[in-house]
Amino acid sequence: MASANKNKIVEASAILGWALESLADIGYSDEIIEDGQTFADNALIKARTVHKTTGFCAIADDSGICVDYLGGEPGVYSARFAGIHGDDDANNKLLLSKLENVVGDGRKASYVCAAACVFPDGEEFVALGELKGHLLDGPMGEGGFGYDPLFVPQGCTESFGQMDQEKKNQISHRMLAFTQLKELMDIYFKGQGAKWLQ
Ligand code: IMP
Repeated sequence: MASANKNKIVEASAILGWALESLADIGYSDEIIEDGQTFADNALIKARTVHKTTGFCAIADDSGICVDYLGGEPGVYSARFAGIHGDDDANNKLLLSKLENVVGDGRKASYVCAAACVFPDGEEFVALGELKGHLLDGPMGEGGFGYDPLFVPQGCTESFGQMDQEKKNQISHRMLAFTQLKELMDIYFKGQGAKWLQ
């Protein structure tokens, strides 16, 4: 999986039911420039880069949070919203400050995930998952990662930060995207892709 984010790899592995190797596991340390305009573009950029360098079947996801009041921001910039890639605390603080006096529907947000796969022969698949919810005015819970302590999925009373991993995986944007990706990959494995299972 073209990711250095252990949380994502654990989630994707649990959803797919497969053991996944991370970039560190295969000794890949080059930076992958995610300069796509959409989640799908970026997921494909990551999977294509690792496939091209290694020849392996590569999967990747690109995900983030889109806030209604902010016109869909931070979107593809979710990981580096406050400037430093992966600084969850700073990202959450910035998001809360931008929503300081915003109440009700203004706090609606969606988690979006694009899951991509590139096979050794260059065949590509990409699937999208979206989970609607709203943002709290302060963090709740210690679980998950990123914006999880601020995000309450629609129909739920607790944040992703308060939920156990299993419960999050049953409803998450990543589950929605990877479940569809797995269906596409299973069809491919039954036909043209059967050779990769030998
Ligand atoms: P990526 O690694 O470029 O896909 O960036 C994903 C970023 O979006 C993460 O660093 C988080 O800030 C946010 N994000 C995506 N999915 C989740 C999630 O499931 N929980 C919390 N934050 C998430």
